[in-house]
Amino acid sequence: MAKEEILTSEDVINKARTYLSKEDADYLYRAYKYAETAHKDQYRKSGEPYIVHPVQVAGILVDLEMDPVTIAGGFLHDVVEDTDVTLESLEDSFDHELAMLVDGVTKLGKIKYKSKEALQAENHRKMFVAMARDIRVILIKLADRLHNMRTLKHLPPHKQRRISNETLEIFAPLAHRLGISTIKWELEDTALRYLNPQQYYRIVQLMKQKRDERESYIDEVIDELKSQLKDVNIEADISGRPKHLYSIYRKMAEQKKQFNEIYDLLAVRILVHSIKDCYAVLGIIHTCWKPMPGRFKDYIAMPKPNLYQSLHTTVIGPKGDPLEVQIRTKEMHEIAEYGIAAHWAYKEGKQPSKGSKVFEDKLTWFREILDWQNETHDAEEFMETLKVDLFSDMVYVFTPKGDVIELPSGSVPLDFAYRIHTEVGNKTIGAKVNGKMEPLDYQLKNGDIVEVMTSKHSYGPSQDWLTITQTSQAKSKIKQFFKRQRREENISKGKEAVEKEIRALDIEPKDVLTSDNLKRVFEKFNFSNEDDMYAAVGYQGITAALIATRLTDKVREARQKEQNLEETIEEVQNETVKKKEQKRDSGVKVEGVDNMLVRLSKCCNPVPGDKIVGYITKGRGVSVHRADCPNVQTEEVAQRLLHVEWENGQTDKKQYHVDLEISGYDRRGLVNEVLQAVNETKTNIIYVNGRSDRNRMAVIHITILIHNTGHLKRIVDRIKQIKDVYTVTRTTNS
Ligand code: MN
Repeated sequence: MAKEEILTSEDVINKARTYLSKEDADYLYRAYKYAETAHKDQYRKSGEPYIVHPVQVAGILVDLEMDPVTIAGGFLHDVVEDTDVTLESLEDSFDHELAMLVDGVTKLGKIKYKSKEALQAENHRKMFVAMARDIRVILIKLADRLHNMRTLKHLPPHKQRRISNETLEIFAPLAHRLGISTIKWELEDTALRYLNPQQYYRIVQLMKQKRDERESYIDEVIDELKSQLKDVNIEADISGRPKHLYSIYRKMAEQKKQFNEIYDLLAVRILVHSIKDCYAVLGIIHTCWKPMPGRFKDYIAMPKPNLYQSLHTTVIGPKGDPLEVQIRTKEMHEIAEYGIAAHWAYKEGKQPSKGSKVFEDKLTWFREILDWQNETHDAEEFMETLKVDLFSDMVYVFTPKGDVIELPSGSVPLDFAYRIHTEVGNKTIGAKVNGKMEPLDYQLKNGDIVEVMTSKHSYGPSQDWLTITQTSQAKSKIKQFFKRQRREENISKGKEAVEKEIRALDIEPKDVLTSDNLKRVFEKFNFSNEDDMYAAVGYQGITAALIATRLTDKVREARQKEQNLEETIEEVQNETVKKKEQKRDSGVKVEGVDNMLVRLSKCCNPVPGDKIVGYITKGRGVSVHRADCPNVQTEEVAQRLLHVEWENGQTDKKQYHVDLEISGYDRRGLVNEVLQAVNETKTNIIYVNGRSDRNRMAVIHITILIHNTGHLKRIVDRIKQIKDVYTVTRTTNS
């Protein structure tokens, strides 16, 4: 791409003629004329007529061999934003497709925002949403930004810095994600020039000094390679690979290395005709020079998510220095340089909108943008989300089927699970990495094969997941899970739950719900008012039992002293009664039959509130299972199922066995905290077993006696509050 020369509209349209039809060229001319009229009497900061800018933008799009509508979009990209032209009139004069492209790059105008940042974020969001609908929007936007960066010297310094920052934060990473490396490099190098001129010119200077020395060495290497390849009849283009200023700058800054340590790395690129030749060349290089272990990467067999393909290796070169080699076909090289633009490139007989759809589908991260933006109401939060995902380093991991999933580095299996699907995330109970069980906070590494284990009996995310997960996507889905119901509902639900818990403690709610007492408790739990506290109970941010316990602590303490002895005696009596009742009566009614022998199955331990089915066993009456118990899913069983239901009104009196599996980070005291949490809910524990594995993953099994599913849920919610608890699952002994 030519940087210095200023193109005229004829230059641009003539260049376009080399690959477009006459009708298309006429269409471009019409677009240019329309823009010229609209921008008449407008001037840029440089003093040039405004139209010069859109013409250069269109020129960049022609260099990328874009389709006519996109180029016309380049000519017209500023007319709606900066002139009296409306979208409607554009659509009338041209077509809907073009109007949509221009709308996508037009900033929001009239609406007032609370701050400049908020407006900026809102503008970016609009652009990303438009881009998710039609990727050509971003190609126009990148061309626009590139020309603005090339002419940045005409703006005052504070604007230069702001625009350069924005370029580094959003547009260069975006170009990278779309694989358009030529634009990415130029954006980065130019931004560096304005953000850190001192370092920029220092690196330029150092590169100049070393150039001759390097070039002669590279030439030597290239000659050697050429003669080797000639011997085996492989035709290849071999060139020294240019290093970019910004990447040198970043390596120096991040790895704290000296210029020489980075720039002395020699790099060559070899372009061949076929994939077969790529591997043949690799073989030859590895025989000539010793490969450095761990440096070979096969991005041909496993393309990067931006579809980059190449073989990478580093060998010890002729002078004993490391020599980086990239080997790829010419097609791969096109994609390496122009990325998604190469797929959009307008070729005869090829409708770009069809070919590119396949390509867009492969950029899965891209499809998710619309998803996220639907869920995030705050544009600034949306941009933060996007920046994390655009900007951080990535790890590439695989599904068991071999699909590549790209995640920000530091991601854990839960991030992976939420990337697959929200429901997969919410129901995750464990993960296998490369076939081996790993804890949920295991940090994923490149190439890991990740298999998420889910259970429909999982009770959903724990509070801890918010700290374990890395991606904003996972975090927002987890938060969403907790806040699923609206605030008002949560408040009233939470209030109801707290009152119920208080009554369960045999205390009249109005006796403890005084404003002083409430204030004491919500402050204790760091809420700013009682409604916030109730809302948190409502969305399960905190349990009602915990609040109720705290609200009633004073009253209970006083009462305890008086009644200590009496209560103990009474409790023992109660227990005995309950045990007798349980033996006699399961609390389940069989449709149309009285006095039937009914047994609750031991495999799934149904409790009131569960959906249940009855199953007639030979000579042992009716066995009652949970409807989703694996043991009643067979066809043979299905024929012997009976309709059964829980008897009303008695469920609070009886107690039922439930098995829970709790997994978490294996630390001192975890088991005790779990037991304590269960005790706080006044629940009897009849069995406990804990074990841990080499990965510091603790698995605790407990069997408890509960009244009904509501009771069970309170216990589970309480356990999920405990730090380091990953999952709580109701288990089935199948
Ligand atoms: Mn512009």
